Amino acid sequence: AHRGMSDMGEMRQLPPDTVIISSNENPLGPAQSALSAICSTASLGGRYHSEETMKTVMAFNEIYGLKRGYSALFPGSGGPLDLALMSNIGPDKPLVYGDPSYEQGPRAAETMNAPKFPVKLTSTYAHDVKAMLAATPTAGAYYIVNPNNPTGTMTPREDILWLLKNKPKGSVVIVDEAYHHFSDHESVIDQVAADQDLIVMRTFSKIYGMAGLRAGFAVARPDLLMKFTSVAPPARTLASISITSAAGARASLQDKDLVPLRKKINADIRSETLEFLTKKGYKVLPGSQANFFMVDVNRPGHDFHDAMMKENVAIGRSWAAMPNYVRVTVGTKAEMQKFQTAFVKCMDTPPG
Ligand code: PLP
Repeated sequence: AHRGMSDMGEMRQLPPDTVIISSNENPLGPAQSALSAICSTASLGGRYHSEETMKTVMAFNEIYGLKRGYSALFPGSGGPLDLALMSNIGPDKPLVYGDPSYEQGPRAAETMNAPKFPVKLTSTYAHDVKAMLAATPTAGAYYIVNPNNPTGTMTPREDILWLLKNKPKGSVVIVDEAYHHFSDHESVIDQVAADQDLIVMRTFSKIYGMAGLRAGFAVARPDLLMKFTSVAPPARTLASISITSAAGARASLQDKDLVPLRKKINADIRSETLEFLTKKGYKVLPGSQANFFMVDVNRPGHDFHDAMMKENVAIGRSWAAMPNYVRVTVGTKAEMQKFQTAFVKCMDTPPG
């Protein structure tokens, strides 16, 4: 059986020295600023302290110029992503999404019995917004992952603005910016402040290194956030984050050095790795601006994944649209050295 289920749901019983570059996590973990905030907040944990959440929401709103009520804090972004998707799709409200892209979109459509319209990415692996609009006249939601998972590639901001302008009335655009901070592109959060039919997802699991601590934001007009309660009771949608995660998230947001430093570390190790692979003659999917990339392994990706596991390197999964490619997360320099050695060894072993 293939181990990697999803980016959050992987079952891990791996040898302790395994290089884990399978789930787009950050090998650096939480920043020192976040750890200090988490430690000093933990002793207050005997009380509910909803003001910890409020303070983090206010800090986020201030950074992004959002009015009160335009953002909500959750334990991670996967939960609210489901709510954003599910509250806008249904049997007569299809979901339109990129292919290949993050599987949570089509999975939510299956849960809601909503028709699915996967749309092939463009030749530069951007979401093809024109084809997405043409896919169906009755779309409930358009799901755009930017940078896209698994390709790491960008959809230009102008394309998202074009879709917002031309999409059918009553539909929403959901832009998943889980990997935004690794890229050089401008966010579309400003379009939420401009009252567009737009929901932007942000997470603390990636550049902020808090995947296991769980924090994420849904950013949208208050009426779109309120609609989340149509698919989940308010108790699940409100104030469910722990005070330690809220404090760690706030400290991360206020740490001015964190994003530029980690963005550079990731970009440097990613380009070193891609340069190595390219020089060796392997085919890398170009254009990644994220903390992962795809590489052609010339055989079914899951076979290659299993071969790499035998070398104690856990790489990411494959997508049906690109079955001979695997996704690889950017680890530390030392981890990527081990990856390179194992990769060459496995590629030198003929498939089958
Ligand atoms: N969206 C995308 C594109 C992801 O890749 C992931 C996780 O890998 C998530 C959302 C969910 O992450 P989390 O729930 O940790 O915020």
